[in-house]
Amino acid sequence: MESQAKIQRRNSHRVMVGNVPVGGGAPVVVQSMTNTDTADAESTVQQVYALWQAGSEVVRITVNSPEAAAQVGNIRQALDALGCDVPLVGDFHYNGHKLLAQYPDCARALAKYRINPGNVGKGSKRDEQFASMIETAIRFDKPVRIGVNWGSLDQDKLARMMDENARLAEPLPSDALMREALIQSALESAAQAEALGLPGDHIIISCKVSIVQDLLTVYRDLAARCDYPLHLGLTEAGMGSKGIVASTAALALLLQEGIGDTIRVSLTPEPDEPRTKEVVVAQEILQTMGIRSFTPLVTACPGCGRTTSTFFQELAQKIQRYLREQMPEWRKQYPGVESMSVAVMGCVVNGPGESKLANIGISLPGTGEVPVAPVFVDGEKTVTLKGDAIAEEFQAIVEDYVRKNYSAGGKLRQEYKAVGEARTIPIRAV
Ligand code: SF4
Repeated sequence: MESQAKIQRRNSHRVMVGNVPVGGGAPVVVQSMTNTDTADAESTVQQVYALWQAGSEVVRITVNSPEAAAQVGNIRQALDALGCDVPLVGDFHYNGHKLLAQYPDCARALAKYRINPGNVGKGSKRDEQFASMIETAIRFDKPVRIGVNWGSLDQDKLARMMDENARLAEPLPSDALMREALIQSALESAAQAEALGLPGDHIIISCKVSIVQDLLTVYRDLAARCDYPLHLGLTEAGMGSKGIVASTAALALLLQEGIGDTIRVSLTPEPDEPRTKEVVVAQEILQTMGIRSFTPLVTACPGCGRTTSTFFQELAQKIQRYLREQMPEWRKQYPGVESMSVAVMGCVVNGPGESKLANIGISLPGTGEVPVAPVFVDGEKTVTLKGDAIAEEFQAIVEDYVRKNYSAGGKLRQEYKAVGEARTIPIRAV
């Protein structure tokens, strides 16, 4: 059964970030950010590489000091030597004008500059320093993201707007005024960049806040008031399930309305969590909404009193981890495999039914059931597993299915079979 997202994307310019298109109908891009010290080139290369391997299509690094700026060209070279062509974005605050001017290798190696209008400079210096960064972008033909953030809103601008608002017969409430200040800060900075000569198709906008309802209001308004591509993300989303839930709630609602051309999930990693978690969450938001596919996803039941052992949870976890680990290779070798669906079910109540809907499914024995596990492939029961090696045997069946169905020849066989059966290719979109 196919399930396609019915989403009318908002029209926007297309901006090229290195070789990755953003906006203009391009697939929604997943991006992430390192948390290494950029001056430590080795650690930064390792983390960018890991984020890229996990599927991040653009990676942002902080460029906060001369030492960091001096390493950006080396980081780019080291990544290229590893075959990692992921575009790097430089995140600049306070001293970006100086760093970009003084380190041309850094300016050249980056695929985009993130400029926070609230952190460009104070008073009369602000326009001059902003212009300097835009001139560097023009010189090196780089796009910029005008990235406004609730926590670092241009205070001079906010003060001016508050004064004006106070003089109105019907002043805006303070939260609405803050939202308007964010949007105006972004749009005025973008207009200023264009007036300086940066083409409109070199500008991406973001206006990040940390409260879901505010983010929805700000982005709906922003989407209606410009045609720049929008970078979407809830800032300071937080840790663990709170960060994931808040980001998903905000991003999913906006994506469903066609708003958002690139997303980042700003999770605070728990101490034992890899940085790549934010990439996995971003991909899963897009995949579970039927917007893009990245990795075969495992459907698993929650378990109940019929599953008193942890075997089936362990199998579901093991298979999901295995599938994710294979993806860097599988993506190249087996095109289309990212849409494959796998079901791991805990008992006979929903097990066979859900397993038949997946490309491959296994229904494990619940408590008190005969200790056998029927396996379904493309809706047909093919084998019944039993004994101590169910997990290994099921993994081998998955591998075999991928080899046969997603290699170039396998794809052809699958399409031939689909035509013969006058139905679509038996890949169930999630
Ligand atoms: S499929 Fe079986 S084990 Fe899983 S939740 Fe339903 S009844 Fe419980």
